[in-house]
Amino acid sequence: MRIFASAILLTFILSNLLNAGPVEILFTTSSDAQIENCHCPFDPLGAMEKRSYEINRRRQLGDLFLLDSGDFMPEEVDAIKASATLDIMEHTRYDAVTLGDQELLQGEKQLSEIVKRLPVVATNLMYNNGIALAKQQIELHNGDEIYLILSVIEPSLIEKLPGNLSSKFKVSDPVQTINEIAGSIHTDTKIIVLCHSSFQARNEYMKQWKGIDLVIGGHTEEKTEEVKITNGIAYIEAGSAGRYLGVAQFRRSRVRAELIPIRPELPDDPVVVDRILRYKSEYRKVGKN
Ligand SMILES: [Zn+2]
Repeated sequence: MRIFASAILLTFILSNLLNAGPVEILFTTSSDAQIENCHCPFDPLGAMEKRSYEINRRRQLGDLFLLDSGDFMPEEVDAIKASATLDIMEHTRYDAVTLGDQELLQGEKQLSEIVKRLPVVATNLMYNNGIALAKQQIELHNGDEIYLILSVIEPSLIEKLPGNLSSKFKVSDPVQTINEIAGSIHTDTKIIVLCHSSFQARNEYMKQWKGIDLVIGGHTEEKTEEVKITNGIAYIEAGSAGRYLGVAQFRRSRVRAELIPIRPELPDDPVVVDRILRYKSEYRKVGKN
């Protein structure tokens, strides 16, 4: 009887081990509050209701983390579009998002809503008085694995904010800040940096960062067809306007990644469709379309 019970236990453990694949890291970048698809034949990809459907579908298949590297808000100040975007982002259940210049551009009221309702990580960005704007790091767990999510924003992007907005924020040095944290973390922890910067700045940071496992870019709107390696660090970015959903996985020390096109044929998430219809009606009330 004892041998039979042990055999069942062993089978159970083995079957769980075989099923426990590496966690999927889904990522979105530079979505630009592209709430509606333009339905253009030459640019058919991207729609928030279809991207949300695909994320939910993958969530039912296995464990995943969902990350965003900033500029999910509109390129201009737009309270109606920002509000709808935030509702949809909250519904999509992100695990960590960082702030790009487009989030800061929306103003203090909208920014505090973003920080209140989304899991924002802002490692090198704070208010000018030194008070933290959001969490400095977010730790995610998958079984025994630990993933530490950090972020940086390029200081010059803060300087370029219009009016007196730039004076409201302070940034610490992206290289020093990340290296200090990475140097104090257990080596088994995977460190992912959401990097909101230009190409040149990101390359400079990556050449000097130590102990980082993956960089997910934002702001440049680059569509990386394959994982790029700089200084032994993997780098990926998922284009812009929600055309692609990035999917990455760690396979031992390597990173595999692909970009899933958000095609018009994908089904809709009805909750997102409902919010989009409300957004359009709000727009019509103020004479826009
Ligand atoms: Zn940006």
